[in-house]
Amino acid sequence: MNDMNSTPESHYDCLIVGGGVAGLSAAIHLAWHNRKVLVFDRRTGPLFFTLNKLENVPGMPNITGVKLQKELLTQAKDLGAEHMRGNVTKVSGTLGDFKLETEKGEHFSAKTLMLATGVARYHPNVNGEWEPCLKYAAKCNMFYCPDCEAPETAGKKTLVISTGNSTGGVGTAKHLYNFTKDLSVLFTSEDAEKRELSPKNQAWLDEHNIDVREDTIKNIEGKKGCIESIELTSGEQLTYDAYFVSSPKVPRTDLAEQLGLDLAPTGHIAPLTQRGNTNVEGVWVAGDVRPMTQQVAIAMGTGNIAAIHIDQYLTYKL
Ligand SMILES: Cc1cc2nc3c(=O)[nH]c(=O)nc-3n(C[C@H](O)[C@H](O)[C@H](O)COP(=O)(O)OP(=O)(O)OC[C@H]3O[C@@H](n4cnc5c(N)ncnc54)[C@H](O)[C@@H]3O)c2cc1C
Repeated sequence: MNDMNSTPESHYDCLIVGGGVAGLSAAIHLAWHNRKVLVFDRRTGPLFFTLNKLENVPGMPNITGVKLQKELLTQAKDLGAEHMRGNVTKVSGTLGDFKLETEKGEHFSAKTLMLATGVARYHPNVNGEWEPCLKYAAKCNMFYCPDCEAPETAGKKTLVISTGNSTGGVGTAKHLYNFTKDLSVLFTSEDAEKRELSPKNQAWLDEHNIDVREDTIKNIEGKKGCIESIELTSGEQLTYDAYFVSSPKVPRTDLAEQLGLDLAPTGHIAPLTQRGNTNVEGVWVAGDVRPMTQQVAIAMGTGNIAAIHIDQYLTYKL
């Protein structure tokens, strides 16, 4: 069926918002089980831009983020799932008749719904703009996800760029210290309170000889996705082998809130059980927007288990 122009009359077994690895893994299982499923995606997930190899995805040692996204989409479409590029802005309804509206005013309905909307991350500002980072993010030597990419810094002179509060930045430095002792931290938040170090974190930085700076970034120089140097607003020029961004992750929960889904204290969507069903009957959640770490295998697994549960639910309960 593939990319399509759905009509308002189309009624799906399941609509999935989010075509990252979680949503597509769910679509693969549902389509394979003959369910009529449609995935919406606005392509802001990190793997759409990750040209670096993902070293820890089980069974896929050479895959890049971009390739993984392409292969999952092809597999889902080949099995009969539908896919639409677009931004879902409104959601309503109840079990058996959920309704979605896109930014363009298109309407869709389905018996069940899955939210696999992921988390948003903050890039460091470069002269007040975040867009310059897109040339380098996950392309060569600029990293974001300690649980995924910390080993990439092994033995490398590494700069942690901390855009949020200092606890996050020091936490990333502690994680990287398992791989490199040649570490510096740059605190870039313009909020002085956020840059303030607790006595315990200050002591850890001192004890481990970590260089610390507080400044903002004026310019990034680089070639072919690799950062060569960073110019600070103070005029200082920094050159490192690796640049590791520590930034707050903000779960994308606007649609969940429209439906009245329970949120966890971390701001993620709180599933009722490990299968991803929620407090609103007929709505499931999968991937990074659940309260757990960011990781491809987990996102795929939670997409898969939610899809199995949806398929069983459609068979036995509807
Ligand atoms: C730089 C970087 C490198 C990483 N490297 C690794 C690695 O090496 N190994 C590893 O295991 N993990 C890695 N990760 C983590 C991994 O990328 C995530 O765990 C995974 O992408 C989560 O998948 P997801 O489907 O839950 O969410 P996402 O991939 O974030 O996808 C969610 C999608 O939903 C879409 N969306 C959200 N709201 C809407 C809406 N209203 N309408 C339409 N679409 C919407 C978004 O645009 C997005 O495309 C990395 C993360 C980053 C940031």
